[in-house]
Amino acid sequence: MSETEYDYDLFTIGIGSGGTRASRVAAAHGARVAAAEEHRVGGTCVIRGCVPKKMLVYGAQFAEDLEDCQAFGWTIEGKKFDWKTLRDNVFRDVSRIEGVYTETLEKHDVTLFHERAEITGDHEITLASGKVVTAKYILIATGATPHVPDFEGSEHVITSNEAFHLDEVPGCILITGGGYIANEFAGIFNEFGSKVVIANRSDVILRGYDFSLRDRLMQISMTKGIEFLFHAEIEKVTKKEDGTYSVKMTGLEERSFDKVMVATGRKPNTEGLGLENVGVKMGDKGEIKVDEFSKSSVDYIYAVGDVTDRVQLTPVAIREGQAFADSIFGDVEPYSVDHTCVPSAVFSHPPIASVGLNEREAKEQYGQVKTYTSDFRPMKNVVAGRNERSLIKMICDGANGQILGIHMIGPYAPEIMQAAAVAVKAKMNKADFDATVAIHPTVAEELVLMR
Ligand code: NDP
Repeated sequence: MSETEYDYDLFTIGIGSGGTRASRVAAAHGARVAAAEEHRVGGTCVIRGCVPKKMLVYGAQFAEDLEDCQAFGWTIEGKKFDWKTLRDNVFRDVSRIEGVYTETLEKHDVTLFHERAEITGDHEITLASGKVVTAKYILIATGATPHVPDFEGSEHVITSNEAFHLDEVPGCILITGGGYIANEFAGIFNEFGSKVVIANRSDVILRGYDFSLRDRLMQISMTKGIEFLFHAEIEKVTKKEDGTYSVKMTGLEERSFDKVMVATGRKPNTEGLGLENVGVKMGDKGEIKVDEFSKSSVDYIYAVGDVTDRVQLTPVAIREGQAFADSIFGDVEPYSVDHTCVPSAVFSHPPIASVGLNEREAKEQYGQVKTYTSDFRPMKNVVAGRNERSLIKMICDGANGQILGIHMIGPYAPEIMQAAAVAVKAKMNKADFDATVAIHPTVAEELVLMR
C-alpha cells in the first residue's frame, strides 16, 4: 500500500497524557491523525489519577490547617467537612479539563473515535462499531490499570479508580500495598477522619525512595494515627451482612473494615488490542517492549507511557509522546527521551519529593559519597505546636562534590524539588548551592545552608 492509500498517517489508541500529546503534535506537523478512546479523554492522570488525587490532597490539608490556625489566633466555629461537596467539585473540574483536552485535539483536526479500537491486520484498526481504518503508523498509548492480586473475595475490593466515587468517607479502611497510591490515599482518608490501616507484603514502604524519607513518613503517619502492618498479604475478603468486610491477612486474626482498597501496582493495558495479531513483542507484565525511540518490535507500531512500563509518570509519557511525534512527523533528527534523573513526588501528608540517586544507590555506584542532612521543624509547625519535622538530604560524589541526589519530606517538598531537580540534572555541585544566598525565612533555604 502506498502512503496516500492509508486513511491516516497516525492512529493513536488511547487518549491519555502521552496519546494526546503525540496526536496533537503529529497533527501540528501536518500528519492526518485519528485517535480512539474507549473511556474518557484525558486518561488516568486527568480522569482517575494525578489531577483528582491532588484536589483531594488539597481538600485533606485543610483538616490540619484548621487545627493549626488556632495557634495563629483564628477561631473557626462549626467547621464541618462534606465529602460529597468535594467529590462533586472534583468531578466538575475533571470534566472541564477533559473538555479542554478534547478541544485541543479538535482544533488540531484530530479525528476522535469514542470507542474501543483493535489492531486487526497490518496497518489496520477495527473500531467497536465495526468501522475499519488504516494508518501508516499506529501509536499505542493505552496506559495501565490497577493490578489486583489473586485472593478469595477480590471482587469486594476497590482500587484508586473507585476511591474517587465513594458515597461517603469510610469509617475504617484497609489499604493494601505500600507504594505511591497507598500512602497518598492513606493521608487523604486519615485527614478526612477515617481509621486507616496500610498492609504491605514486605517490610518497606515506597521502595526506591531514600530510606531516611521512608522512615520519616512512617513515623509521622503513625503519629497521625495511620497503622502499618508488614508481611501482611490478603488471603481472603468476606462481605458481611452489615455491608462491612472481614479480612484475613497472613499471620493475622480476621479484622473488619468498611472498605478494602488495593494499591499494589498497575499493569499495562495490552489485553485485547490485537497486538499478537501483528507480532508485537511484550514483556512478562504485558508491557510493550520498545526501543529508545518508543518503537515496538513491529516497524510501524510505537508505544508511549505506562503501557511500556518504563517510568509510570505522566510527564514522562508526555515527553515520550512529544519525542515520537517530532521524530516521525517533524523536521528534526529523531531523538529519544532521557529516562535518567527523573524527579518524582509522593503527595502524602507531608509530601515527599526526590531527584537522582538515593543514598544506597549512590554508594553502590560511586563508592565514596558525602551526605548532607537538614532535619528541622518548619517555623509554621513550631508556632502551631505540631511536632512534625522535615528532612532534606543531599547526596554528593565524594570525589568532586557533584550532587547525585536530593531527597525531601516536608511542606512544599514537590514544589521545591522541581527547581532543585534542574540543578541535579545540570550536574551542579554542592559548591554551587553554597554560593547561592538563602531566601529567609523559607523551608527551601535549607537547601543552600547545609554544611
Ligand atoms: P507502587 O509500585 O508504587 O507500589 C506497589 C506496592 O504494592 C508496593 O508496596 C509493593 O510491595 C506492593 N505489591 C506489589 N505487588 C504486590 C502483590 N502482588 N501483592 C501484594 N503487594 C504487592 O504502585 P501503586 O499502585 O501505588 O502506583 C502505581 C504507579 O503509579 C506508581 O509506581 C507510580 O509510577 C504511579 N503513581 C505516581 C504517583 C505520583 O507521581 N505521585 C501517584 C500514584 C501513582 P513491595 O514494594 O514490598 O514489593
